[in-house]
Amino acid sequence: MTSLDTLAVHGGRADLAGLGVHVPPIDLSTTYPLPDVELGGDSYEAMATGGRPLDGGSLVYQRLWNPTVARFEEALADLEGTAEAVAFGSGMAGLTACLLATAAEGRRNIVAVRPLYGGTDHLLAVGMLGTTVTWALPHEVADAIGPDTGLVILETPGNPTLDLIDIARVVEAAGDVPVLVDNTFATPVLQRPVLHGATLVLHSATKFLGGHGDVLGGVVACSPEWAARLRSVRALTGGLLHPLAGYMLHRGLQTLPVRVRAQQESATKLADALSAHRAVSEVYYPGLRDPHALVGRQMSGPGAILAFSVHGGYAAAVKAASACSVITHAVSLGGVDTLIQHPAALTHRPVATEARPHPGVLRVSVGLEDPADIVADLVGALDTVI
Ligand SMILES: *Cc1c(COP(=O)(O)O)cnc(C)c1O
Repeated sequence: MTSLDTLAVHGGRADLAGLGVHVPPIDLSTTYPLPDVELGGDSYEAMATGGRPLDGGSLVYQRLWNPTVARFEEALADLEGTAEAVAFGSGMAGLTACLLATAAEGRRNIVAVRPLYGGTDHLLAVGMLGTTVTWALPHEVADAIGPDTGLVILETPGNPTLDLIDIARVVEAAGDVPVLVDNTFATPVLQRPVLHGATLVLHSATKFLGGHGDVLGGVVACSPEWAARLRSVRALTGGLLHPLAGYMLHRGLQTLPVRVRAQQESATKLADALSAHRAVSEVYYPGLRDPHALVGRQMSGPGAILAFSVHGGYAAAVKAASACSVITHAVSLGGVDTLIQHPAALTHRPVATEARPHPGVLRVSVGLEDPADIVADLVGALDTVI
């Protein structure tokens, strides 16, 4: 197989030389001429039911198909090692499509392994899409599955405490029920869930895939059968990725491997510096704590995100986050600049109390600044709280 770095640079671009261009054209058409009414109608029907446009049959309408977005999908599928991928307007739109496609098959129960991204936890808990949820720890998945269960959802590394979950074990426990892995934190550079049996791989493309904090998007990597179901949901409900966003995400993939590896290297340095600081009570980072020995087996490295808790709880965490200057106090992650955020106060506020992170936990997404500057900034901020 072509190496990941090469796929990242060239994916979704095989036809460019033939078109006489060097970078992908951006197609902003919302509608397309219909060369033939019958063929146009057939193409429309094929796409509305999740298929691809027919040869010579027109793309009909942007909600059904967009060539710029399709290039990003093809490149991401290459990286995840899946046959196809389907892009959406956000990670949550991608998750929504997976839940709707599951419920449309008549199985409405979702078994979800906590901890999850706050928005995912919230959506499942309120059941707004007509799904029910059974929360389970990884070893409880087999018992949690009932006749009505249509999907198992997990996230590894977990949010915000970076716990690693053994995907293959959950897949085994799930039996015939498909498993969705949210791979936003690891990216395909460090982890390919389908190699461990996952059926659906979800990304908030807003994070590492885009990588510069300027595009909102989501994508699900999967088989052709699932892609058809998800495209059908997308065509009918309209949770589309805009072609300009598709172009930017496609470009983001080209530098994904180098960004993730460099950010991971700095995260390792920051984790060591935090472990040595007396204001810090615990550092959560797979490079420091990996009880199931999954780094090296499931994930090729510990990643670029870490969390830590401070002595003094909520107030101390707020003070430390506010005292940073190189590091920005903001939600989101996976961009070129380092961000710090307070999960209990922000992203995990809608999560039930028993599943909410400790109030003194701060999460850091390590960026591409000089690691010495990142360490100095955070150590300086922590010096103010002791
Ligand atoms: C941000 C995020 C999401 C949601 O994605 P959006 O693009 O914000 O809709 C889902 N899962 C994880 C792990 C995330 O970090």
